[in-house]
Amino acid sequence: MISVNKIKKDFPIFKRKINNKNLIYLDSAATSQKPEVVINSISNYYKKHNANIHRGIHTLSDESTRMYEETRSKVAKFINCNPKEIIFTKNATESINLVVRSFVAPLLKKNDFILLTEAEHHANLIPWLMLAKKTGIKIKYVPINNGFIDYKKAEQLLSKKPRFFSFTHVSNVLGNINDIKKLTSIAHKYNVPVLIDACQSIPHMKIDIKDIDCDFLVFSAHKMLGPTGVGVLYGKYKLLKCADPFLGGGDMVIEAYYDRFVPNNLPNKFEAGTPNISGVVAFGSAIDYINKLGIDNIESHDKEIINYAFDKFSKIKNIKIYGSKNLRCSLISFNLFTDSGMLIHPHDVSAILDSFGIAIRAGHHCCMPLHLKLGVTASCRASFYIYNSKQDVDFLIKKLEYIIKMFNGGKKDG
Ligand code: PMP
Repeated sequence: MISVNKIKKDFPIFKRKINNKNLIYLDSAATSQKPEVVINSISNYYKKHNANIHRGIHTLSDESTRMYEETRSKVAKFINCNPKEIIFTKNATESINLVVRSFVAPLLKKNDFILLTEAEHHANLIPWLMLAKKTGIKIKYVPINNGFIDYKKAEQLLSKKPRFFSFTHVSNVLGNINDIKKLTSIAHKYNVPVLIDACQSIPHMKIDIKDIDCDFLVFSAHKMLGPTGVGVLYGKYKLLKCADPFLGGGDMVIEAYYDRFVPNNLPNKFEAGTPNISGVVAFGSAIDYINKLGIDNIESHDKEIINYAFDKFSKIKNIKIYGSKNLRCSLISFNLFTDSGMLIHPHDVSAILDSFGIAIRAGHHCCMPLHLKLGVTASCRASFYIYNSKQDVDFLIKKLEYIIKMFNGGKKDG
């Protein structure tokens, strides 16, 4: 069981006042807050262990290397794979770019197409558009049906044998949890390799690579209590082994000459240059923290909050919620309207909520094509995590109702 009051004490940010109010942080889908153990882990690393990794024989370098590699093992255990299949990048965006350029680009043949979905974050769209521009290949999109990837349409498109299928586990706008095991198995039926964007799911639920059997999976440490500047790419060993190196430089070579080089073994082949050592070490502390709470406990807490929130949101007059209630992860995107049907701009909603200490997201959430598809240019998004309670939801709802009343010309009494 998760005790929000107890958990909040672990996060120093909640001592802050925002506009003289207690902070209600509902923007974890953008980035989560960090517990003290993660923050301390960074300063502890610099105070006691700082040295470059993999290259030194001295004590500090040895300790740094061990701490960095320990996190790799923790991540591998967390998602059930071999540590050699874990590549540290700077974020999920870089992980996707790596797969596009190092694995997919060299495989491309004339008339190939790549399959994405209509709900992808720009991180899983723009690298593919860049590839298409350079090579002339086509991109096709699986439609979204009631918040979910349309599995039937996905199969129809997969049967036409795209070179690659890249899709999100949970859209950061719609919030519904796609059946990634099913999609992976349909893709494999047609010999299509897959990449899963797990950015919005992995902070909230158990992910088991062996069970899903996906080829690649990406996520960012900063959405799961870790620091910014650390991303993860999981790739099947045999696929990473045959992929081209991504960035060239130190640590990714085993031999170098004036006219050639021999790439290093996995995972070093994909980690050129000095990485974010303190960030990776602190990410290890974030995983320890999550393990201590228990990912199953986190999942049930987050489910309870989102179901509670969805029901409360649904009762608001003049609200449009995007995506459906069924199988929903920890976020809700919505828009508010006046009685006359005028959109209350998400920026206004967010600014007013901020004056009450409530942090939500407003804008296109790096999903412009999906917003156009939904018929809006922007939305509000409230996202929840382990430090949010039902009281936070109630307070938000009260203020949303106040905003609607205010825009209807009602009294400004807060
Ligand atoms: N995919 C999804 C679904 C996301 O929500 C995000 C972050 N908003 C990303 C990819 C990109 O993550 P990052 O900015 O950490 O690379």
